[in-house]
Amino acid sequence: MSSGKTAFVTGGSRGIGRAVVRRLAAEGYAVGIDYLQAKDQAGALETELRAQGARALAVQADVSDRDAVTAAIRTVEEAFGPIDLLVNNAGIAEQHQFQDITDEFWRRLFAVNVDGAFHTIQAVLPHMIHVKAGSIVNISSIWGQRGASCEAAYSTTKAALIGLTRSLAMELAPSGIRVNCVAPGVIRTDMVAVLGEETLADLARETPVGRLGSPEDVACAVSFLAGDAASFITGQVLTADGGFIL
Ligand code: NAD
Repeated sequence: MSSGKTAFVTGGSRGIGRAVVRRLAAEGYAVGIDYLQAKDQAGALETELRAQGARALAVQADVSDRDAVTAAIRTVEEAFGPIDLLVNNAGIAEQHQFQDITDEFWRRLFAVNVDGAFHTIQAVLPHMIHVKAGSIVNISSIWGQRGASCEAAYSTTKAALIGLTRSLAMELAPSGIRVNCVAPGVIRTDMVAVLGEETLADLARETPVGRLGSPEDVACAVSFLAGDAASFITGQVLTADGGFIL
């Protein structure tokens, strides 16, 4: 059943973003699915959700490009109405020793992981402030909470998202807008596939609950923070990591 609300999920064609899109659609949100390159995957997701009676629209935009992602948000708003829920999920990661990090790599990580959220939030805020309602969920990482060897750039961007979340939560609470963060642990997606099965098995063993997370585990956390059940919760970082950083 439609909630009458519209959500926009960045990087929504696969992995955690896709699980978030599916969950929000099942909860009745009309969902804008931002994708970077995976037109076929995003289109298939749109088709799948429409077949279930949900409202979904795939839109291409690189979140690091302000004009492109703002245009994508406006396209979704024209189809479904203003954005009530923004999920900043798009992100990139690569492992490098700190002394090997180039200016180009450092700036690209910030452009996608941090500027992306800066762009999307500025695009949805005028309406949210006008109606004095709205919810924003940023996808950080346990590595942004704890730090990670050979992931200084990634960890720094993910820590920046936590700073952004807390600051905006304070600034926007009087406007009725909540801003929260989910910090996933090790989640089985394309992003961690590069680590290889042996390392992933080690990581699963190191996780107190004894397994890696699924994209759906993260989607549950996003759904909770996004919805009315969390109406008194803002500026928080909800760690979904099976106890990994305890
Ligand atoms: P993923 O690589 O499958 O998904 C990332 C998504 O972001 C992809 O759809 C990709 O196309 C999109 N994307 C990348 N650059 C983009 C850009 N410039 N513009 C628009 N979209 C872009 O990995 P995932 O694990 O699903 O990651 C989703 C989020 O969760 C990321 O922010 C990631 O940092 C975070 N995260 C993942 C893990 C994990 O273990 N998988 C842990 C902590 C946090």
